[in-house]
Amino acid sequence: MRKKLIAGNWKMNKSLSEAKVLMNEIKSAVSKEVASKVDVVVCPPFISLSAAAEIFVGSGIEFGAQNIHYKDDGAFTGEISASMLRDLGCEYVILGHSERRQYFHETNHLINFKVIKALEKGLTPILCVGETLEQREQGIEVKIVDEQVTMCLKDVCAMDMQRVVIAYEPVWAIGTGKTASPEQADGMHMEIRKSLENLYNATVAGSTRILYGGSMNDKNAKELLGKQNIDGGLIGGAALKADSLLKIIEAGL
Ligand code: PEP
Repeated sequence: MRKKLIAGNWKMNKSLSEAKVLMNEIKSAVSKEVASKVDVVVCPPFISLSAAAEIFVGSGIEFGAQNIHYKDDGAFTGEISASMLRDLGCEYVILGHSERRQYFHETNHLINFKVIKALEKGLTPILCVGETLEQREQGIEVKIVDEQVTMCLKDVCAMDMQRVVIAYEPVWAIGTGKTASPEQADGMHMEIRKSLENLYNATVAGSTRILYGGSMNDKNAKELLGKQNIDGGLIGGAALKADSLLKIIEAGL
C-alpha cells in the first residue's frame, strides 16, 4: 500500500517573514491526525528552511528543499549541499524540476548525480520528469519520460529506490492552469511503472510513489488522486494558500 504524499513547491516565493506566516497557517490547518495519514511536505526557498524546522517540529509535517549541488562541499559559489540540508532536519529535496531543466540547463546526467548524492546523504529525492507540449504533440511523451527515468536513476539500486519519489509533471501543465486529465496522468504513471519494472522489478514498480504535478488544485485534486497509479501531488501555486493545500490533502485521504 503506497501512502499518499502531498508536497508543496513554493518555488521562488515568500520572504522569510511571509514564509513564517504561511507555515504557521499550514501547521494550524493540518492536524497531526491528517499528517499521520498522508505525508505532507513543504518545500520553501532555502532561506526559510531553518524556520520550517522550528515551526513544523512535532507537527507531523515535513519539509524539503528545491535543489542541491551534487558535490559534498567546496568552491561552488551560491550552491547548497545535501549535508547542509540534512543538518537542518530536511527530509526531502525536489530534483530535476522542469524549471531547473529549462532555465538552468539541468540535464538528466546532472540530475542523476544529484539523485545519487541526495540518497547518499539521507535525503528523499522527489525526482521530476515530464514532457513538453511539443514532445506530446509529436507523440514521443512516453519515450521522453522513460528516458528521463532511466537516465536520472542510473546507478540507483533497488534498495535505495524505496526512498525515491517520482513526480510526473507534464511541462505544459505547470503553472498554466491546464491539467492533464486524470486518465492522461494515470496512463503516464502506468508507463513509469513499466519503466521501473524494466529497470528493477515488479516490486519496485509497484511500491514507488508517483506524484502528479501540474496545476493541481482543490477542484481537480479528488479526481486525480482517486486514480490507481497517482500517489499524491507536487503542488505549485495552490500550495501557497493553507486552505487550498488542506483541501488537496483532504482529497487524498
Ligand atoms: C510545480 O511547480 O511543481 C507545479 C506543479 O506547479 P503548479 O501546481 O503551479 O502547476
